[in-house]
Amino acid sequence: MSDMYNTRMLSPSDEDIAFAADLICKGEVVGMPTETVYGLAADATNPCAVKKIFEAKGRPSDNPLIVHISEKDMLSDIACEIPALALKCAQMFWPGPLTMVLPKKAVIPSVTSGGLDTVGVRLPSDETARHLISKSGKPLAAPSANLSGSPSPTNAKYVLDDMNGRIPAIIDGGECGVGVESTVISFQDDAIRLLRPGYISVEMLHEITENIIIDKGVLEQLALNAKVSSPGMKYKHYSPKAEIYIIKSSFEDFREYVLSDYKQGDAVMIFDGEEIDGDIPIVYYGNTSERQAQRIFSALRECDEIGARRVFARCPETSGVGLAVYNRLLRAAAFRVIEI
Ligand code: AMP
Ligand code: MG
Repeated sequence: MSDMYNTRMLSPSDEDIAFAADLICKGEVVGMPTETVYGLAADATNPCAVKKIFEAKGRPSDNPLIVHISEKDMLSDIACEIPALALKCAQMFWPGPLTMVLPKKAVIPSVTSGGLDTVGVRLPSDETARHLISKSGKPLAAPSANLSGSPSPTNAKYVLDDMNGRIPAIIDGGECGVGVESTVISFQDDAIRLLRPGYISVEMLHEITENIIIDKGVLEQLALNAKVSSPGMKYKHYSPKAEIYIIKSSFEDFREYVLSDYKQGDAVMIFDGEEIDGDIPIVYYGNTSERQAQRIFSALRECDEIGARRVFARCPETSGVGLAVYNRLLRAAAFRVIEI
């Protein structure tokens, strides 16, 4: 399947977006930028088109797709039983990196929702994404544009690395500003349940309600057969080829630990401004939570580019958007955490 298409790189010009929208209306899949990560977009209401997304990614069919809309009014076309809390969230955080899980309407086929009777809906702030949605005239299902299991792509080149020959076109909108996927929430009585942390942090959600439940899947490893509220959280995720180890310690202890057990093929993922002597390859991933969110997935891809076999990563802060960084790194590391 990998040479089915001659993948074309498009710009965010009106002409190229019209071309991409035409592909989508014909049931094809297009790589699109969003403010979080790049997505693989197709008409969310067309089961054949949505199947092509799953094929291009190699994604398990029970892992639901997020549906993207270009205006708040489109929400009631695809979701029902919208609680007051959800309307408040939309008012406060849309357009932006927040996905709300709500009961779905019949127009969203079961293949899009991974067999669930709910749908995750998001109104992105990225202009190109919104332009493509409105030009297509359809809600767009769009998971991250990586091969299933790989780090999410934060620029068009990384989309091409994974999707060359698998999709007809990619719109190059430059580097993504946020860098981690959207915050995913659902609603339970008068509480918000956090299913996946993202740029919209628990602290920001507290402006809506103090009543926030952090789902078990955010920080714990779930069994593959577990019944979970956010199916994506049980799969191997975001992994480079290297084995990642998160080291929870001070920088001094980190340095000592890494240097005492150094082998050929090792590398470190550390914060900007930190230094390690010796010739151990270094990948930097920012020194604020916002910057770490922007860098985490490209840093993981860079570990592969330098041919690392084992990577020791500094443990990020876990408040604010840091919780999203830690959540992604935990999965990239298959939950290998060493506390010193
Ligand atoms: P991705 O498309 O790769 O960003 O992954 C989307 C993730 O959002 C899924 O893996 C789920 O964890 C979550 N999600 C999407 N739709 C739903 C839904 N209807 N119910 C629960 N979680 C959802
Ligand atoms: Mg993904």
